[in-house]
Amino acid sequence: MNDTPTTPDQVTLSDFRAALKEFIQVVGKDWVYTSPEHLRPYQKIMLANDATRFSPSAVISPASVTEVQGILAICNRYSIPVWPTSTGRNFGYGSSLPATRGQTILDLKRMNRIIEVDAELGTALVEPGVTYQQLQDYLKEHKLPLWLDFPGPGPIVGPLGNTLERGGGNTPYGDHFAHACGMEVVLANGKILKTGMGSIPNTTSWQVFKYGYGPYLDGIFTQSNFGVVTKMGLWLMPEPAGYRTIMVQFDEKHLSEAVNIMRNLQLQRVVTNVGVMVSDVMAISTFMKRQDIYTGTGAVPRALIREKASAFGIADWNMTFTLYGTDAQIKPNLDIVNAAFKPIEARINPDFHDGSQVNELSLNSFGILNWIGGGGLAWFAPVAPAKGQDAVKQASMARRILGQYGFDYLAAPTLNGRDLHHLIAIVHNHNDLQQKAQAAACFEQLVTEFSAEGYGLYRVGIDFMDKLADIYGETNREVNRAIKQALDPNGILAPGKSGIRL
Ligand code: ADP
Repeated sequence: MNDTPTTPDQVTLSDFRAALKEFIQVVGKDWVYTSPEHLRPYQKIMLANDATRFSPSAVISPASVTEVQGILAICNRYSIPVWPTSTGRNFGYGSSLPATRGQTILDLKRMNRIIEVDAELGTALVEPGVTYQQLQDYLKEHKLPLWLDFPGPGPIVGPLGNTLERGGGNTPYGDHFAHACGMEVVLANGKILKTGMGSIPNTTSWQVFKYGYGPYLDGIFTQSNFGVVTKMGLWLMPEPAGYRTIMVQFDEKHLSEAVNIMRNLQLQRVVTNVGVMVSDVMAISTFMKRQDIYTGTGAVPRALIREKASAFGIADWNMTFTLYGTDAQIKPNLDIVNAAFKPIEARINPDFHDGSQVNELSLNSFGILNWIGGGGLAWFAPVAPAKGQDAVKQASMARRILGQYGFDYLAAPTLNGRDLHHLIAIVHNHNDLQQKAQAAACFEQLVTEFSAEGYGLYRVGIDFMDKLADIYGETNREVNRAIKQALDPNGILAPGKSGIRL
C-alpha cells in the first residue's frame, strides 16, 4: 500500500487509513488499491487537462450489491467521496477519473452478470460491468436474433455506463436512455430502489414498462450523483429481415437543404435511425495522418483537404443512414429517399457499409486518434434544432473557432429527427503542452460562443462540469442541490458530477 495516498480534502490521513481497513473487510484486500502502480490505469485522461487535478485516492472494486452497500456505509461514516464507474471508459469526457481530486473510484466492472435476456420481448437485465462485446457474445451463443446499439468505442464499453451518460449509437435504438427500462439503484443510505415496475413484489414487468407509478425517477440517476446504479433493463432490437445502408454525399452549399430533407424523412419515419453526417476532414482523419498531408501551422487549408478528399471520393459532407426491413419495405422507402435528395444533386450510394448501423462491433472509431497522435481527445457536443440554418451556423462557428487555435473540423453531427447532436472531436497531442493548452482554450471559447447563441451541450468532460452547470443556470443547480441534500446528505457520491454537490 502506498504511504501517502491523495486523500480527499476534508478527510484526515488517519481516518482515510481506517476507512481503507474497513473497505478491505468488505471486499477483501485484493480489491482495494492505493499504490501508484495500481492507480496508473485509472489516471489516464484524454481531455486537454492535467490528470493530477483529478487524481483518485484509491480504487475499490466490489463484487456484489451487498458489498456496494457496505462500502457506502463506511463512506458515510468517514465522509469519503466515491465516484462510481461501470466499464470506466468514458473516453473524451474523463475516462474513469472523478470530477475532483481525492475521490475513491468505485469500480463496478467485477459486477458483470447478464442476469436475464427475454428473447420474445427483446429485453435484457445487466450489471454495470457487462460490455457490449460480452452481451453480443451471449446473444450469439444462445442464437438469439437480437441486435445491440452501441457508442463509438463499441466492444470495450458497456450499456449501463453509456446509458447513464445518455450516450447514443446509430441504429433505430440509438437513443440509449429511451431504450432503457428499469433500474436498480443503491442509494447513499444503503437502501435499494428499483425504478418503474421493479418495486412491485414478484414483479413480472420490470423490463417492459418504464413508468411504474408516481414520478418517473430514472432520469434523475442519469448524468448525476444521486445513487449507484447496479442493474439496468435494456430493450434490444429484433434482428431485421434485411437492411440497406445509404451514403448521401453533398456539397457544403447544400448543407442546409440536406439537413431539412433528412429531418423530414426521419419525422415521417421513412428513416428510423440517425443520419450520421461526416465532414470531409473527419472522414480523412480515420485513415490518414495529418502530417502526411500538411506540416504547416494552423488548420489544414481547405483546398488541401478538398484535394485529398476528392481523390478518395469523399464529399464535403458524407451522410449515412440505413433502411431496415424486408426488400418489399426497403424498396419504396429507397425510392422516397432518392426523390427527396434529388433537388440537391447529392451522390447516393445505396449499398454502403457501416457496421455501427448493423450490429457489427469494432474499434474503428479510434482511428481519429492517429490524425495527430499523442492521444488527446475532448468531445465538444452541442445540440441544435434539426434545421438547415442552425446546422450551417454551427458549422461555420465551429470551423472559425477551431481554426483560430489550429485545429481541424473533425465533425460527425448526428441528425435524429428534431435534434442535431453536433459532435466535434478536438483531437490533440496530449504530450505537447502548448497544443494541450490551445485545445483547452479552444474548448472554452466554443462553449462560450455556442451558449451565447442559445446552443447548449448535452454532455461534457469532468473538467467542464461546473461551467456547464452554470450555463444551465442557478434554478437547475438549486433543484439538483435539493435532491442531492435529500438523497445523499453527507455528499459522498461523486461530488462535482454534472456540477452537483451539497
Ligand atoms: P463507459 O465505460 O460506458 O464509457 P463509464 O463506466 O466510464 O462509461 O461511466 C461513465 C460515467 O457515468 C462515470 O464516470 C460516472 O460518472 C457515471 N456512472 C457510471 N456507472 C455508474 C453507476 N453504476 N452508477 C452511477 N453512476 C455511474
